[in-house]
Order: sequence, then C-alpha cells, then structure tokens
Amino acid sequence: MMQVHFNQPYMAGEEFQNIINGALSGQISGNGIFTKKCHEFFEHRYGIRKALLTTSCSDALEMAALLADIKSGDEVIVPSFTFVSTANAFVLRGAKIVFADVQEDTPIMDVDTLEPLITKKTRAIVVVHYAGMACDMDRIMALAEKHGLIVVEDAAHAVEATYKGQPLGTIGHFGSFSFHETKNVISGEGGMISVNDDRFVKRSEIIWEKGTNRVAFKRGQVDKYQWVDVGSSYLPSDIIAAVLFAQLTRIDTIQKMRLEVWKRYDQKLKPLQEEGKLQLPVIPEYASNNGHMFYIVTNSPEERDKLLFHLNINGVMAVIHYLPLHSSSYYEDKHDGRPLPNTDRFASCIIRLPFYNVLSEVQQDFVVEKLKAFF
Ligand SMILES: *Cc1c(COP(=O)(O)O)cnc(C)c1O
Repeated sequence: MMQVHFNQPYMAGEEFQNIINGALSGQISGNGIFTKKCHEFFEHRYGIRKALLTTSCSDALEMAALLADIKSGDEVIVPSFTFVSTANAFVLRGAKIVFADVQEDTPIMDVDTLEPLITKKTRAIVVVHYAGMACDMDRIMALAEKHGLIVVEDAAHAVEATYKGQPLGTIGHFGSFSFHETKNVISGEGGMISVNDDRFVKRSEIIWEKGTNRVAFKRGQVDKYQWVDVGSSYLPSDIIAAVLFAQLTRIDTIQKMRLEVWKRYDQKLKPLQEEGKLQLPVIPEYASNNGHMFYIVTNSPEERDKLLFHLNINGVMAVIHYLPLHSSSYYEDKHDGRPLPNTDRFASCIIRLPFYNVLSEVQQDFVVEKLKAFF
C-alpha cells in the first residue's frame, strides 16, 4: 500500500560539498566561513540589522529573553497555541507567562484580546506567525510602544513570509527562525536570531559567544577576549551553517516547490470546504503565503480524531498539533484560569497534511482521495 510520509528532508544540492569545503578551510567550529555567508545572506535579503545563527530557534528565543533582560516575576504575553519553546525560553528566566488566545478564523494571536492582559509587570509580547501567516504587526508594535514592551517574533514558520511586504522577523525588536528539518529551509537542527534594534546588537554577540567579547576579538577590536557578561554557547558548528547555506542558495526553488504543493492542496480540497466538511487556511489580507504547511480544520474534535485515525491507517501520515500550553501538565496550575476557546478549538480540530518540497501530485491525489473517502 502507498504510504505518504508527513515530512521528508530535502537536500538542495551542494550540502555535502559545502561540508567538505568547510572542513578543508581549517575551521568547523562556530562563526566560520559558512556562518558568515548565512549571516550576510539574511542581513542582505531581509535587511536584518544583526543576524546570528543559533543551534535552534529555541536557542534564539532564549537569547531574546536574555537580551530583553527578562527577570523573575516579569510577565510575558505568549499565545497558548504554539510550540513549547515560545514560552519555555521566558520561563527559564523566571517569567510568568500570560497566555493569549488566537483569532477565530486563523490560529494567530488575536490582537483585540491583548491590551487587557497588560499589567505593570508586563515586559514583552511574543507573537507566533503560525504557518508563516503574519500577525497584525502594526497594531502589535503600536501597543508595545504605548506600554514600553519588547516584541519578539517567533518566526520559526515564517522564513520568506511578509507583513505588508516587510519580511517577518524584522519588525519586532527580535525575531527567531528555525531550520529544523520540518521547516522550509533546513540544517537538521538550526536556528537564527535577528536583532532589529541597534541597542541590543553589541550585547547579542557577547551572549552568543558564552558571555565573552570573542567576536570583537576576532574582528581585532580588542587585544584579548574575556568574560564580560552572561551568555551561553549559542553558535552552531560551521558544518550546520554549510548545510544551511546550500539551502539558502536554492531558496527560490524551494519556495516555488512548496507553494505549488500548497496551492494544489488548496484547489483539490476546495470542494470539501464548499460542502461544509472542513475549513481550509484563511490567510489575512496583509500577509503573504510562504508555503510552510497545509492544515485543515474539522467541524468537531470527535471528527478530527476519527479522520486522523482513518488517514493514518490508510497510509497518510498526517499529524496534529499543538496541545495548548495553558492546559499542559507543566503549566495548567500556573495559568490564571482564563478560558482560551479559539486555542482549544484549533488544538482539537486541526490536522496537518503531509507536506514537503518533493511531494508529488500523485501522492497529493492519494491524500485527497483518502480525505474524500472519509467524508
Ligand atoms: C519549530 C518551532 C520552534 C522551535 O524550533 P527549534 O529550531 O526546533 O528549536 C519554535 N516555535 C515554533 C512556532 C516552531 O514551530
């Protein structure tokens, strides 16, 4: 029987050659030639003030929490419908997470619900551009400015996506990207922080290099390097950067492939939406589509579970996510008890369909056929 996997890592071409060239260059530790190439790529393409590769998006978020100087007792507003790292990075600094709900039509933060959540202790808002769909950044930035808050964009899904034409991850004070193998451009594990505010640039390089001024030393700006601040080892091996750079040189091709897969699902599933069987993604007018993932929303949690089972036993490796963070076993007794109905609905009704660069039309037809058979 045919099996359609959920994900399949795609090698763009020069990954292995780059690794060899990196090794021959004499340095495979962090901040080597490929790391610099990746930084330049993103700084040039997106206009990022300072891009720093990290070993994961989780690390980039932890760096953002350190740079924002989050301390014990500070409050940070985070959507509940997200991956655990979005909140965990701030919990590690002692923050209290105030969970926000998502919109009714699209699982991105509902800006209308944010202002009442802001107190004297609020220090930051973390937005998640779910499926690469932008949150309403003008309104979020205005709110942050009014209350003196830091904005972190979790752009793990959002490489190549824009808000009113502006690249995501470049609008807030910080952005975090992921190059995990399930994302658009990949290096196995991997990530990046974008530092978009001059005030934080110098410190970002120090925190990145274990709290030392080694980056300045390597540039010849100081004659020895030493411990000057807190930090950790956030920089990846140049081998990771070598793989990532091979992906970046093919990013337009990768995006074209992914958008084709996305559009084919959208077209082939439109009839099921018209019959009221399921809902397809609704992309806000101000947002672009970066072909990160394709999800469907069922009419009830019971139907979602039955459909998922039906797909899985018929060879379609669809998956679900996210279990809401506000009712997770780690956070439920720390949450303030507010119900987050849209979060609960998406969490219990979303199915993510198999999605990867080289998913063929034959495989997609198979997925669609299994969906139709269920309904
Ligand atoms: C994948 C993901 C992360 C974590 O990325 P890693 O690179 O695996 O640390 C964080 N936030 C969101 C929304 C994600 O999807």
